[in-house]
Amino acid sequence: MTQAASDVREVTVRLPDGAARRYPIGVTGAEIAADISKSLAKVAIACSIDGRLSDLSEPITADAAIAIHTGKDEAQALGLIRHDCAHIMARAVQDLWPEVKVTIGPVVENGWYYDFDRDEPFTPDDLGRIEARMREVIAARDPVRFEIWDRPRAIAHYEAAGEPFKVELVEAIPDDQPIRMYWHGPWQDLCRGPHLVHTGQVPPDAFKLMSVAGAYWRGDSRNKMLQRIYGVAFRSRQELDAHLRQVEEALKRDHRKLGREMELFHLQEEAPGMVFWHPNGWTLYRTLEDYMRRRLGAAGYREIRTPQVVDRKLWEASGHWEAYHENMFIVEVDEEHAKEKRINALKPMNCPCHVQVYNQGLKSYRDLPLRLAEFGACHRYESSGSMHGLMRVRGFTQDDAHIFCTEDQIEGECAAFIELLAGVYRDAGFASFDIKLSTRPDVRVGSDEVWDTAERALENAILKVRNDYVVDPGEGAFYGPKLDFKLTDAIGREWQCGTFQVDFNTPRRLGAEYVGEDGARHAPVMLHRAILGSFERFIGILIENYAGKFPLWLAPRQVVVAPIVSDANGYAEEAVAALRAAGLRAEADLRNEKINYKVREHSLGKVPVILAVGGREVADRTVSVRRLGEAASRVAPLADVVAELRAEATPPDLRVPGPLD
Ligand SMILES: [Zn+2]
Ligand SMILES: [Zn+2]
Repeated sequence: MTQAASDVREVTVRLPDGAARRYPIGVTGAEIAADISKSLAKVAIACSIDGRLSDLSEPITADAAIAIHTGKDEAQALGLIRHDCAHIMARAVQDLWPEVKVTIGPVVENGWYYDFDRDEPFTPDDLGRIEARMREVIAARDPVRFEIWDRPRAIAHYEAAGEPFKVELVEAIPDDQPIRMYWHGPWQDLCRGPHLVHTGQVPPDAFKLMSVAGAYWRGDSRNKMLQRIYGVAFRSRQELDAHLRQVEEALKRDHRKLGREMELFHLQEEAPGMVFWHPNGWTLYRTLEDYMRRRLGAAGYREIRTPQVVDRKLWEASGHWEAYHENMFIVEVDEEHAKEKRINALKPMNCPCHVQVYNQGLKSYRDLPLRLAEFGACHRYESSGSMHGLMRVRGFTQDDAHIFCTEDQIEGECAAFIELLAGVYRDAGFASFDIKLSTRPDVRVGSDEVWDTAERALENAILKVRNDYVVDPGEGAFYGPKLDFKLTDAIGREWQCGTFQVDFNTPRRLGAEYVGEDGARHAPVMLHRAILGSFERFIGILIENYAGKFPLWLAPRQVVVAPIVSDANGYAEEAVAALRAAGLRAEADLRNEKINYKVREHSLGKVPVILAVGGREVADRTVSVRRLGEAASRVAPLADVVAELRAEATPPDLRVPGPLD
């Protein structure tokens, strides 16, 4: 008790290396950084106080773990640079056009946006002026500071400044949250923070304003339409250039553009977010589906098929009706003699239906693990603004499966799943993928022992395959831990596709059980898992990954035989017949067009192989082989080419390993 008086005025700060230091209460991250070293103080951009990213000027009022961040901490640095860019851009806009009203400006992937209320539209020329003004603000190295205000003062401030949107925002801040007012030099904004120390910490050559779009205030179409300016920002010019190259490359590979050029699919207004597959696209789809079906069969899955339209009673029992019905397509039917309409829903997921299949007939522990797979067509209502080609749709087909098993079987099933997934991604052309483990959240079902077992099982399963993975603590579902799998495409973009989810809840909820070795009834564990995610989106990713230039086994049109002279038409048809007999997707182009015209057209359609035949080839029973993207062609005997292409077009899982494999 005698020490209390002095202790109260000091705090103990623990640093990442484990060292503890004592400082007067109210010490800031900036002061701690300066105390550690002068050089650290110079490059410090923010700090974490007990894991919470904070301003370096934030007073520390209780014992805490502190980490000082510099530009080397990628996630923190990028977040702060983008956030400060939002403020600096808003300031630049009001410096240039003082009558513009400001609203909100959050950080988004790769950058930020800010919504402005201005009568005239921003032009590309305006964006250039804003960028130039932003660079002046950055060069000025204006200090960033904050104050905490009470609500009446903040409202009075924004009313006086003529900023009605800010008044609305201040009014909406909950009572238990502080109202933080930030200044970048003389310019003020309402913000949760944190921020950089001064505007000069934003690299002046690593940001770019990208576009202007309309956006309703608070995303509500009854509200005023604002102008949203998007920007991207990075830590260096090199990072920005790499990003801009990726954007440019992504545009060239856009699956919607390639989908048209290759005649794969289309979408139209009468069925938003639902795909009309054309013959070429459906060939690609079926090739992938056949491949997955063989892979699942070899891995011990049994394929099932469950109904599209299911009574709301089942969705109520599964809990989806309560939590999800706004996203479900409802189907009402007047059944004969029924007093009231029967309400059904198009299934948004397959899980409850799979439990119905499991529940037919009493299961014993000897039946487990039971792996039920379905290429399950699901429908979910997504807002029209969020839909994007094949990547975000309302009607899609999951490569879904549910494994019913005991707790002891989770690890083995998970390891086998990761191995299967790794093989599929490799065959599809993706060399690397990342794994994220999401562990128990605060609100959950199941005992700690069960969670310990499940989390350890997933970790052990990963470690059988590799030793690098990320843990996302507390981000598991309330019913079990999960793994997410993210693959990297040819231009470095990441796509989350696969999932593996442990579920202790659904089987109990829907009455699934098995008779254990002890003769008593137990609820099985349910493992929800997908590798592709959905066929639609995965095909979108495949199209962009390959820029439409598919490996032969996936290409919807594999070979076109094109006669150079009409005398070769008969031989061309003979060649097509030989190729088809070998299982290849081949067609003849007998149109009376120049060979260069045919080559150009089929190249645009991304046909991997064109076989040109003229008088010489007819006489020698050869073909002139031209590969997509190669200028040169070579002449070879038809029989050899058929054999070569047949081997190359064999799906990877059906290839007989050679002596060197
Ligand atoms: Zn801010
Ligand atoms: Zn499921």
